[in-house]
Amino acid sequence: MLHENVTCTVCGCLCDDLKVRTENNQIVEMQRSCFLADAWFKEQLEASPQPVTINGTPADYDQAIIKATELLRNAKAPLVFGLSRSSTPGQRAAVELADRLGAYVDTTASLCHAPSIMAIQQVGEQTCSLGEVKNRSDLVLFWGVDPLVTHPRHGERYSIDPSGEFIPNGREDRTIIVLDEQEGETAKVANQLLQIDSEDNFRVIWALRQLVRGKPLHWSDDESVSLDELRQLADQMKNCQSGIIFFGLGVSQARLGHRVVEALLDLVTDLNEFTRFYARRMRLPGDVTGADSVLCWQTGFPFAVDLTRGYPRYEPQEYSAQSLLENKEVDACLLIGSESIPKLSARARAHLTDISTIVLDYPGQSPQFTPTVQFTTGIYGVHYRGTAYRMDEIPLPLGKFLDTIDPADHDVLNDLLKSL
Ligand code: SF4
Repeated sequence: MLHENVTCTVCGCLCDDLKVRTENNQIVEMQRSCFLADAWFKEQLEASPQPVTINGTPADYDQAIIKATELLRNAKAPLVFGLSRSSTPGQRAAVELADRLGAYVDTTASLCHAPSIMAIQQVGEQTCSLGEVKNRSDLVLFWGVDPLVTHPRHGERYSIDPSGEFIPNGREDRTIIVLDEQEGETAKVANQLLQIDSEDNFRVIWALRQLVRGKPLHWSDDESVSLDELRQLADQMKNCQSGIIFFGLGVSQARLGHRVVEALLDLVTDLNEFTRFYARRMRLPGDVTGADSVLCWQTGFPFAVDLTRGYPRYEPQEYSAQSLLENKEVDACLLIGSESIPKLSARARAHLTDISTIVLDYPGQSPQFTPTVQFTTGIYGVHYRGTAYRMDEIPLPLGKFLDTIDPADHDVLNDLLKSL
């Protein structure tokens, strides 16, 4: 069978134009997928882990639900963490379960773009869809990100090559500028590379703000970027038809990243005095944007939420999974997707392996330790229908094209809820 318009959930681009040919419940051919998607589908679909285990030993599904319920019921301070590789039905069930338990709930955003979210909460953001970028943006800046490596089809579909309503000649009508520490793959196809140490981003952004607003600027000749280069960039930004800055972890994960992103968002606000300009985060995991959205509509906050008092409280420094685990403030953890465990600090990982853990993972994933209870779940967009949010917050439907005997995240989480 040929399945068209399949949505890939491997990165935040959520390309929804893939063609997949299947035979005997196996993928035999994929078209329009990139190298990241090819590797991911192979890894997930060729793996055949035990569907359910208790302390590493194969177990019956009902037994595992009983065991996991017991762990969660007896926990004084449970944590629900992950969610970015799930889908709206799984994320919604996870928040409902966390609410019932009086748990902390956090998403992998706290390990990636948390500083950007905090900055947006402070100064707001000028948003647009990727469709608008494709149709209007004649100046595209990639700051602290190398999309040809991390989001391979972003350039082809939205930001570098495609023709759009006001960009009839595609690449020829666009100026692409990369601002990064070193030359990556995107810089090789860009019009210009400005090499900036990530710790200098804050000063460079403020210098641009001064130049854009026509204010005096003292700039040393020792800086990695010259005053002439900054002047030229400020002029290009003010005089474009529509501009966009796509920024990545190279900006948000620098020291005081939330202040750097705040400055960048303020620069974009300044630019809107002269032209149309936007800034957008390059989200990495497939549905981290969906996790933000579901948490926001259910609790009012996008990550690091404390539900222990029966109402939501938000404090990124205190209620992020990393802080809670490092400070040994949780005694059980329900992980929905373990792919972000390597990003936790060694201290947080050490505590995670000391407490009771219930892990829901796709077939090719593994938490790198033996959880107390583990469920292998079917993949949204492959085995189960669902909804995922693209990096520009556009929700896209996920279809199914393979069968599985594994339950979906929402099946396991709803069974836990019923059992509680
Ligand atoms: S760019 Fe991202 S969403 Fe698109 S096919 Fe590649 S991995 Fe999938």
